[in-house]
Amino acid sequence: MRDRIEKFLSGKTKDINEIAEFYPEKKSLFIDYKELERLDGEVADALINTPDEIIHLFSEVLSEMNIPTLADEPRINVRFNNLPDERGYTLRIREITSNYIGKFMAVEGIVNRISDILPKVDVARFYCNKCGEVYDTPQNSRFLTEPIICRNCKKKDFRFVPEESEWTDVQRMQIQEPLELLEGGEEARQIEVWAEDDLTGEVTVGNKINETGIMRLLPPTKRGSVYQKFLEANYLENIEKEFEELEISEEEEEEIKKLSKDPRIFERIIKSIAPSIYGYKEMKEAVAMQLFSGRYGKSLPDGTSLRPDIHILIIGEPGVAKSRLLQYINLIAPKSIYVTGKGTTGAGLTVTAEKDEFADGAWTLKAGALILASGGIACIDEFDKMSPEDRSSMHEALEQQTISVAKAGIVATFKANTSVLAAANPKFSRFDPYKPLVEQFNIPPTLLSRFDLIFPVRDILDKEQDREIADHILKIHRSGESVEDLEPDIPTELFRKYVAYARKNIHPSLSDDAADKIKEYYLKLRSGSKDTIMATPRQLEGLVRLSEASAKARLSDKVTVSDAERAIALTDFVLRAVAYDESTGMIDIDRIVSDHPKSTRDRIRIIENIIQELIKESGDGMASAADIMDEAKSRGLDAFRIEQILIELKTKGVIFEPRHGKFMLTGG
Ligand code: ADP
Ligand code: MG
Repeated sequence: MRDRIEKFLSGKTKDINEIAEFYPEKKSLFIDYKELERLDGEVADALINTPDEIIHLFSEVLSEMNIPTLADEPRINVRFNNLPDERGYTLRIREITSNYIGKFMAVEGIVNRISDILPKVDVARFYCNKCGEVYDTPQNSRFLTEPIICRNCKKKDFRFVPEESEWTDVQRMQIQEPLELLEGGEEARQIEVWAEDDLTGEVTVGNKINETGIMRLLPPTKRGSVYQKFLEANYLENIEKEFEELEISEEEEEEIKKLSKDPRIFERIIKSIAPSIYGYKEMKEAVAMQLFSGRYGKSLPDGTSLRPDIHILIIGEPGVAKSRLLQYINLIAPKSIYVTGKGTTGAGLTVTAEKDEFADGAWTLKAGALILASGGIACIDEFDKMSPEDRSSMHEALEQQTISVAKAGIVATFKANTSVLAAANPKFSRFDPYKPLVEQFNIPPTLLSRFDLIFPVRDILDKEQDREIADHILKIHRSGESVEDLEPDIPTELFRKYVAYARKNIHPSLSDDAADKIKEYYLKLRSGSKDTIMATPRQLEGLVRLSEASAKARLSDKVTVSDAERAIALTDFVLRAVAYDESTGMIDIDRIVSDHPKSTRDRIRIIENIIQELIKESGDGMASAADIMDEAKSRGLDAFRIEQILIELKTKGVIFEPRHGKFMLTGG
């Protein structure tokens, strides 16, 4: 075997000379496995089965070649890449079983945790405390190995001297199966990877990597027989494969194209989304648009890019099938993750830096749902219950599609091209019909405004509807009956491929007519009222995204007027539900995006609160008209309105005026 390796390496003089010249910047010899296999199949096979022996031989031969470097004893790594994709060479993480202990393999995964780069002793220097004898002891296990007994004085009393020992960098990480390779809500499996020396610092969380290495076992720390497995990396690299799609055959492509020509395509798409859930036509349509997403790769002249992803928020009372819908979408989206904002199990939603046991107390970065689902959809249930850290990075994640971490010396920005489908409960679990909806959303207005569409869902008492939902649910539970209308209209497998195909291949552009249509609607929203900003430019961008998604759902390269109309209808539906102001009869986006509601009803409440506060502060239990006026003006109300409201409150008997210009609240 040795002479075969010598022969192979004699053909590598060019690479070896390069290392000689640049050592220690270059300290690894990279060998293309496929080339090795071609030139010497026997060595290649032996590497897979007995990698320790072969890699050791390669190193020995290399060191005997006396490569002239500036260092006295250069330590050159031999690294193998480009293993074939076949079974046995490239494994899925779930395939790495005890059959592969000590074997060489390639694995693909996405990094979900990574530790700081830490120093590890390679060769530890010890001095005998009694006689001063020197020992250089190679370290191969997890624990520091001391010399057994002093060869000179036969005592066992040693001193470890870190400064004189040889060290190497190590970094631990965990990789998990890419979400797009999972089918129908499968759980992603994960495995630890240990990288050393020049492999450290090469990747970070959220990177999709290709790793080759040896499967090793980690003995249990307490007595026991269950070992942990990990991969000792021999080579790793980033791979830039976005959306490693589902395989779509030529026949399937034909079928997909045919389906897109169906004049009922939108109806059929909606009927393919959570058919077991009754109603919610608009919500299902919106989620369908989200699956297709806006057009990718649009950027502004200044280089910033426009987000194509559509974010949707469902705020609903308990038991209205929010979780059900999210779980269903997770099942059918080509790439997705389902998490709850409470995040008791996972690593949160964004990126966290923590000290934990993963790297023996060193800092570790953990990737959350938005990073792992980049290029797909994150279904976030209980969105209102997320941690304050997640909440604060969510703003940036939803708009800029990046997540920044600045903690413990780690300053980094991660990519998160993820669409968010979020579900939340109202502030007090149920909506109070007498208060504006927006005030009952348990989510700050700045974050709310990042969502393209917000659906409030009330569990309304409606006998007719109750009966239909009951029928629908019972149909699901009744066995033996044909339940045709509970089947998705388009079979799930085909639907997933349809979505994946559209996302990958269709990049529609906005027609002039469609643009005019959107502009017209937007201007109408803006001109709604004098003192209310009716819509924000965000709404405009949202309309464009929805129109593009509509075109993609038809596999069309052009966004037409009908696409614009679909986007407008959806937006209008949502605005009516959320921002409709009964007192003005108008839609008021301001209610979603700011803390300063403008309707009369809100003004009344502001004044009531002011009176209450003033009474509390005053010595005589009364609030003076002048103080009320001042305070209300400072909160943006004008004098005329304030007077009007005071009169109204008086006629309604909410307040009374025991002395001129002094008010008290009725009933305390
Ligand atoms: P939420 O997350 O909104 O609290 P869930 O998704 O847990 O509610 O739903 C509660 C149950 O009610 C589920 O079993 C769901 O199937 C049923 N349900 C509620 N509304 C509907 C509906 N419109 N159609 C079918 N099932 C429904
Ligand atoms: Mg729920």
